[in-house]
Amino acid sequence: MVLYTPGHTSTYPDEPVERGLRAFFLGGGDEVGNVGCILEDSTGTRLLIDYGLAPTRPPKYPAECPKVDHAIITHSHIDHIGMAPWLVGHLGTRLHASPLTAALSEVMWRDTYKVSKIEGYPLAWDKRDLGEALQAWTTHQIGDWFEIGAWKCRFHRAGHIPGAVMIEIETPELRILWTGDMDTRASPNTLGALPVECDILFLEGTYGNRIHPPRIEEEQRFVKKVLEVVDRGGTALIPAFASGRGQDILRILRREAPALEAHYHGMGTRVTQIWMEHPESIREPKQLAKTWRWCRRVSGKSDRRKALDANVIVSTSGMLDGGPAVWYANRLRHHRANAILLTGYQAEGSGGRLLLDEGKLRIFGNITPIDLEVEQFSLSNHGGQNELLSFARACAPRHVVIFHADQDGREALSTQFAGEIKVHLPSNRVEILLE
Ligand SMILES: [Zn+2]
Repeated sequence: MVLYTPGHTSTYPDEPVERGLRAFFLGGGDEVGNVGCILEDSTGTRLLIDYGLAPTRPPKYPAECPKVDHAIITHSHIDHIGMAPWLVGHLGTRLHASPLTAALSEVMWRDTYKVSKIEGYPLAWDKRDLGEALQAWTTHQIGDWFEIGAWKCRFHRAGHIPGAVMIEIETPELRILWTGDMDTRASPNTLGALPVECDILFLEGTYGNRIHPPRIEEEQRFVKKVLEVVDRGGTALIPAFASGRGQDILRILRREAPALEAHYHGMGTRVTQIWMEHPESIREPKQLAKTWRWCRRVSGKSDRRKALDANVIVSTSGMLDGGPAVWYANRLRHHRANAILLTGYQAEGSGGRLLLDEGKLRIFGNITPIDLEVEQFSLSNHGGQNELLSFARACAPRHVVIFHADQDGREALSTQFAGEIKVHLPSNRVEILLE
């Protein structure tokens, strides 16, 4: 059980900050996902950035957050937003985000709640906290300054997914940029992030040790494979996350191969409706609306069976951990013409990882061999090493704090910055002081 005793299990330092900035990671400091970080300076201004949970089995939670009046949530992915209801229910924290992130929060939290009930995992917040959290949002448009204590803050577009922001913070002493999850490259649904000059850069490093292939070439390799599967009479099953990847895949397919019959099934249906209510956060929003009319959305059982005859099925979950994607994989596995096309990183212990490594999937509790073609494509919306390096250099900071990365990722980036920018590799629950 991961349950906090509010005010008793926090290990946040009691002493005030004398000068500069204190950063204290509750989670996500030396790992991918599960983010939460407290920033505080000598004015006594204290801000939490993100409070998520890692949707592994069982889920991973960040450390208990100390008393904090304000939290900024960078985007709606569950490893950044998933624990926010706890803050509101237990600490009365005010939540700040872009209008789209705030609008998506209800879908994300309700799904987290539902999954915890189905899987039987404890969740540190309940339905009442969720209800209060929905009332706790203050939203800010990109570029508008707002105040948190003695600090001024404003959002910048982060790329990554629609509504995702980077945070620029001006304290009396320092200018800080927090990237959140970011990409400088445009993707079908969002434009990329632009650098912001700062003294201290908090840089995500998910893909710090990887060089992405050129995005357009990877998209074309992906479409070519889909068409190859369809030509041999098969169906391509494409597991994809509900917010971001699924919609990107559909836009790529419609743009490159509009004659395909593509079905979409998953939580992304509600997410996409909310996206379309926020066209200012979407790249070429009309193309998204057209794509959404072009694909067929699966709702009932008879739709599911029809989808089995389609050319393409795009469905959740993105790492084949449950969701309709697993139901489809179970039906499609009997015909060798079919294929499963993975479109991003498959975490250790996930269904997709088992499929890649051993050609098996956990289907309704049974480890089942999958004798189908499986291919992986790199259509990530996180900057790779080249993007992260040129972005960081253009921000011209004195300090860079690399977070949201595994050991390989942060060491690779750290080596590149050596002698140029002072690098900090944080550990969870250990303060770092920056001046
Ligand atoms: Zn994310």
